[in-house]
Amino acid sequence: MAWMGLSWIGAGRGEPGGTTFTGWDPEAGVALEPRYHPAHPHEVERACQLAEEAAPVFAALPSRQRAVFLEHIAESLLAAEADFLAVTPRETGLPPARIQGELGRAAGQFRQFARLLEEGSWVDARIDHALPERRPVPRPDLRSMLRAVGPVAVFGASNFPLAFSVAGGDTASALAAGCPVIAKAHPAHPATSERAGEAVRAAVAACGLPEGVFSLLFDAGTQVGRALVQHPAIRAVGFTGSRAGGRALMDLAAARPVPIPVFAEMGSINPVFLLPEALDTRPVALADALAASILQGAGQFCTSPGLLVAVDGAGYEAFRARLVERLSAVSAVPMLTPGIAERFREGVGRLAARKDTRTWVRGEGREARGAPALFEVDAGAVLTDAALTDEVFGSCAVLARTREPRDLARVASRLEGQLTATLMMEAADHALASELLPVLADRVGRVLVNGVPTGVEVCPSMVHGGPYPASADGRFTAVGTGALRRFVRPVCFQDVPEVLLPAELRESNPLDLWRTVDGVLKRA
Ligand code: NAP
Repeated sequence: MAWMGLSWIGAGRGEPGGTTFTGWDPEAGVALEPRYHPAHPHEVERACQLAEEAAPVFAALPSRQRAVFLEHIAESLLAAEADFLAVTPRETGLPPARIQGELGRAAGQFRQFARLLEEGSWVDARIDHALPERRPVPRPDLRSMLRAVGPVAVFGASNFPLAFSVAGGDTASALAAGCPVIAKAHPAHPATSERAGEAVRAAVAACGLPEGVFSLLFDAGTQVGRALVQHPAIRAVGFTGSRAGGRALMDLAAARPVPIPVFAEMGSINPVFLLPEALDTRPVALADALAASILQGAGQFCTSPGLLVAVDGAGYEAFRARLVERLSAVSAVPMLTPGIAERFREGVGRLAARKDTRTWVRGEGREARGAPALFEVDAGAVLTDAALTDEVFGSCAVLARTREPRDLARVASRLEGQLTATLMMEAADHALASELLPVLADRVGRVLVNGVPTGVEVCPSMVHGGPYPASADGRFTAVGTGALRRFVRPVCFQDVPEVLLPAELRESNPLDLWRTVDGVLKRA
C-alpha cells in the first residue's frame, strides 16, 4: 500500500496542509515517512455530517448483515499483515511477534462481535403482552430492545497500535452496535492507523455501506479530538489513554448543550496482594511471575502491576531479592514515544526523591528509553499518601511492606478505582483472602487469584473497566462482547402495530431470538 499521510473523510481523502507531523522510530531515534496532515475543520464537519447521515441506515441494517461487514474487516486486517509488520514495529518499538499477536486479537474481536450479531439475542428483546382485562388500569402491549446510540468518536490508544486503536475494540464494539465510527488516530503510530483505516474502508466499500460508516482523522494536537467530542452529531466517545486526557474529554462532553457519555479507560496500578502462606512457600516463583508481568511491553499496559503489597515473613526477603535480581538484569528499552518515556522517568524520579521510599532498582534511561524501577515503602505510608499509588506508566513498581496481615485490607480500602487486583495465595490464606475479596470487588473490574494482571482475555465474561478513575463509568467493560453495551440504549415500543415493529420484537419471532416474554426467557 502507498501511505499518503491523509485522513479518510468517508470514502474520500483529506487535503494536505496544516501543521504536519511524522511517526517516530524510538529504537533508531529518527522521524519516519510520510508526513501526516491534520484534518481541517471543514473535514471534521464533513466526517460528522456523513456519519450522521449513515447512522439510521447502518443501525437499521439487520444484525446478520452487520456481522458480514465485521467479518470483512477481520479479513482485510489479516490480509494487511505484511504492511503492519513493515511499519508498526518501527513506529512503536514493539517487536514483530507482539504485532502479529495483536493483529490476531484485533481481527478476533471483530469475529467475536460477528458471532454475537449472527445469533442476534444481544438486542435483549423484552415483550410484555397487553392485559386488557387488568383492573383498575389495563396494561398496554410493551416491547423493548437495544438500539445504536448514533455516531461514536474513537480515540486510538498509543500502547495498543492494533487491538485498541483505529480498528481496535472500541471501533469493533461501536460498529457491532450499529454506530458509525469516526476514529481519531493516535499520533504515535500514524502509518499503522492509516493502514488499519484502509482495511475498514475496504470493508465498507465491499459491503456497499454508506460512506459515513467510517472516517479516520489525523492530528498531532488536541484540536481535532476536541472538535469531534463537541460536535452535535457525535453521541458517545471511546477513549484509552491518560487520566488527564480522558478527564478533559469527559468534562468537554459534559459541558455540551447535549451532554454525551465518554467511555474512557484511563489506567490503573493493578495492586497485587501477596498473602503470607503464598509468600513463604513460593517466593521465587512469585517474584519471577511478577517481574515478567512488570517488564512485559516495557510496562506500557494499563494492567501492569504497579503496587505489590506484602506481609513481612520468611519468604519476604527471598521474594524481594529475586524481584530485584530480575528487574536489575534488564537495561533501558525503547518506549512508545519520547513523551511517554519522559513521563515515565519523571514518575520514577518522584518516587526516588521521596524520603519514605527505598530505591532497589533504578536503571539509566534516556531519550525514548526507559529502564525498570522498584521501590520499597512501609505500607503505612501508602495508607496516608495517595501520591504513592499514582500510576507510573512503564516498568515501575512499589513494594509496600507490612508486619500486620490486616494492613492488606486497609490498603485495599484506601485504593481508588482499579482495573484489576490480584491475590497471590495458598489454601492457608483463605481467611485473609475472604476479608480482602469483598473490599477489592468493590474497587476493581477484575479480581485475579494466582495470576498476573497483564494479558486481558477477549471473551464475553471479561470485565476491563472499573470504578473511576480506572474508567469513566465502572458499569461497563471496554473488552469482550459486553463492550457493545456502551453504545446502545433501550427503546420501548408501546402498542405499536405488529407490521411497524422491528423484526426483533414481532410476535412471530422471525429472527428466532432468545427474548424475555412476560418475564420468561424463551425462544418462541
Ligand atoms: P493521552 O495523552 O491521554 O492521549 C490519548 C489520545 O487522546 C491522543 O490521541 C491525544 O491526542 C488525545 N487527547 C489527550 N488529551 C486530549 C485533550 N485534552 N483533548 C483532546 N484530545 C486529547 O495518552 P497517550 O499519549 O497514549 O499517553 C500518555 C500517557 O497516558 C501515558 O504516559 C500513560 O500515563 C497514559 N496511558 C494510559 C493507557 C491506559 O491503558 N490506560 C494507555 C496509554 C497511555 P494527541 O496525542 O494528538 O494530543
